[in-house]
Amino acid sequence: MEKFENIERKNKELINLNPIQTGGKLTKPAQKALVEFGNGYSIYDISPGLEIMEVPLIKEFIQEALPKFLGADIVRIVLGVREGIFNIMHSIIKPGETILVDGNRHYTTIIAAQRAGLKVVEVPSSGEPEYKINVEDYEDLIKKHKPALVLLTYPDGNYGNLPDAKKLGRIAKKYKVPYLINGAYTVGRMPVSMKELGADFIIGSGQKSMASSGPIGILGMDKKWEKTLLRKSKIYPQQEIEFLGSELRGTAIATLIASFPTVLERVKNWEKEVEKAQWFSKELEKLGLEQMGEKPHKHDLMFFKADAFYEISLKHPRGRFFLYNALKKRGVTGIKPGLTKYFKLSVFGISKLELKQVIIAFKEILETA
Ligand SMILES: *Cc1c(COP(=O)(O)O)cnc(C)c1O
Repeated sequence: MEKFENIERKNKELINLNPIQTGGKLTKPAQKALVEFGNGYSIYDISPGLEIMEVPLIKEFIQEALPKFLGADIVRIVLGVREGIFNIMHSIIKPGETILVDGNRHYTTIIAAQRAGLKVVEVPSSGEPEYKINVEDYEDLIKKHKPALVLLTYPDGNYGNLPDAKKLGRIAKKYKVPYLINGAYTVGRMPVSMKELGADFIIGSGQKSMASSGPIGILGMDKKWEKTLLRKSKIYPQQEIEFLGSELRGTAIATLIASFPTVLERVKNWEKEVEKAQWFSKELEKLGLEQMGEKPHKHDLMFFKADAFYEISLKHPRGRFFLYNALKKRGVTGIKPGLTKYFKLSVFGISKLELKQVIIAFKEILETA
């Protein structure tokens, strides 16, 4: 039983480039909230006796702060981006209907569509090296398949490409197709407004990009979807069927709220994050690596091709795990163990000083391995 009681993380002290972790680090206030609300259901103690959605602080957060932040009319708390995507598919589309998604979509988009019994058509990317999604390609496929939903992953989780979401908003409007933006890597990192992009829905991830422990997502919608997505139970007239009453519980929401003021401020720094990403990309390219995806890049999530590391791995005693180990020795983690030729990383929230250490690590490994 001891190993259960001593459950622990590894490599906590290293510089962590793991894209799924750079935007989910708790702020100081969220660390405090995590402990404060660690006990099960202790969130109810904020206002004893009230239903969770009636707690004034939570009401203000969900009905005022979050809609303003997302540029949405109504916001609901969901269990994560994947669940939010499923909630929308399940509520507004009939099984057997078709949806149109970008070719760079997250795997959970496909899984959610399968769970909802939908057919999926993909808009292909331009392929290597940029893997761009040209949103104009949606138009012909809309005419051909008459989809019940168009979905855009903005940006995608592999290359960090930011397609023209606003243009797709105009296309969706022209053909009157509901439009969903997967904002797992935008909401909480960069300024984004559902209304400005012309979307019907946007979803953000607490644990991915909003400095929350999660699992939690925020789903913004246009008010025209209220009747469908927020349909109520006849037996329990207060309760929303799609969200099983409410999906809002525990440390996920407590840490999301406590981090929110910091998140509001940090999205204002986005241009600096982009500049830093572009600088980092150039530095790695000087070493012979090749950044895939859009160039110049407009997001902290980047994908690299590194033939030199692959060549080393073929001869190295530790094989393809050499890179992970060599980086770790130099204080760097977050690139998936076993990858050498292609890998993604994120520079979000990592200082230039730390990134210089990362660049030196790559350089040394190339020179000595
Ligand atoms: C991480 C990620 C998801 C899943 O987010 P959850 O909130 O964990 O469900 C979905 N889409 C993309 C593009 C992602 O990067």
